Amino acid sequence: MFDTLSDRLTSVLQNLRGKGRLSETDIDTTAREIRIALLEADVALPVVRAFIAKVKERAKGAEVSAALNPAQQVVKIVNDELVAILGGETRRLNLAKTPPTVIMLAGLQGAGKTTLAGKLARHLKTQGHAPLLVACDLQRPNAVTQLQVVAERAGVAVFAPEPGNGVGDPVDVARRGIDEARRSQHDIVVVDTAGRLGVDEELMRQAADIKAAVAADEVLFVVDAMIGQDAVTTAEAFRDGVGFTGVVLTKLDGDARGGAALSVREVTGVPIMFASNGEKLEDFDAFHPDRMASRILGMGDVLTLIEQAEQHFDQEQAEKAAAKIGTGELTLEDFLEQMLAVRKMGPIANLLGMLPGAGQMKDALAQVDEKHIDRLQAIIRGMTPAERQDPKMINASRRLRIANGSGVQVRDVNDLVNRFFEAKKVMQQMAGRFGM
Ligand code: GDP
Repeated sequence: MFDTLSDRLTSVLQNLRGKGRLSETDIDTTAREIRIALLEADVALPVVRAFIAKVKERAKGAEVSAALNPAQQVVKIVNDELVAILGGETRRLNLAKTPPTVIMLAGLQGAGKTTLAGKLARHLKTQGHAPLLVACDLQRPNAVTQLQVVAERAGVAVFAPEPGNGVGDPVDVARRGIDEARRSQHDIVVVDTAGRLGVDEELMRQAADIKAAVAADEVLFVVDAMIGQDAVTTAEAFRDGVGFTGVVLTKLDGDARGGAALSVREVTGVPIMFASNGEKLEDFDAFHPDRMASRILGMGDVLTLIEQAEQHFDQEQAEKAAAKIGTGELTLEDFLEQMLAVRKMGPIANLLGMLPGAGQMKDALAQVDEKHIDRLQAIIRGMTPAERQDPKMINASRRLRIANGSGVQVRDVNDLVNRFFEAKKVMQQMAGRFGM
């Protein structure tokens, strides 16, 4: 659903690539373009304003970072702020100290509450819980049957009013549902409630009454992401009329522009907890602000990569190595240090796998041989400091000793030493050409 926003933001940020420094004008232009992208994605105006203000302030005050170039810094700032408006940390369900935990679903008719009840039940069941679904939507003619159908698919139990007694009282059904859960040892109760086509007072009162009667631990406001800006007004009405502790976005598989997702949490201050993206029970997941943000920025997991680079980058060491390349003083000791610095960031295949487009090079990634790198490290470690400083002294008998000491063949040592000399030659030529 975020395709357009994602395309727009990606191209705005791409324009910054290759800039050595960002001027105030660069930042202002970028901020204006991001603003347009967000408004086109139907993000609520106050949210857009606050977002842009923060991005601008941080971009202008950005410290010179050793590991990131200016464009990467702006990407990081935009990403951080996206994560923040999406809620920051992933918010998990609060479970009651004494079971059953009561989760109530509220929202407009058609938002996807009944479907969600089934999805949530399935999800909880796979986590080892024994949920009970309680049918309190006694208004929509088929709601009870529909809940029974999804419950059966999810393989969980339902508590519903007996048919034939006319329209029952949903508050009473809710209470009896909780009693039933206690009796039959269900540790979580999911209460499905009635919705209306629009917000009205009676709907709010009924939901508030059920909430009070069952002492709900979580009230999840279920909202159809495809209703755009209306999601925000509906959320405000439910917040004031009923109150809720979490938001569930449904129909994220639709071609909506994504504004609802980016606005609801910021406007209500209540975190988004789950996202639904299809009609099947499996089309459902916990909502992770950080993953959603990288998806919007179309970044693969480059951001994790950037963060790891920031954490592990040792500027002094890198500059030392660069200077030595120029003067031809690079030693095997430096080579080892560089190799260790890169490895601190994690397995090489994982690092490569975080790059955008890595999905298409899965086979190549499987070929990355960590063992080969381990072997190189072992060989260098098997050398004396003098040998590392001046590899020219490594004669045949030294090669044999190093090979035995590091558990490899003599030809592996030869290989490393020869490649080192070759690499050094190439680097010196390049340094000469680029005036390092
Ligand atoms: P309720 O009135 O709030 O209980 O809404 P329902 O659960 O009956 O859902 C209304 C319609 O939306 C049904 O046709 C569902 O199949 C559909 N629906 C629910 N969630 C999703 C979703 O995440 N994606 C899609 N595409 N359809 C959904």
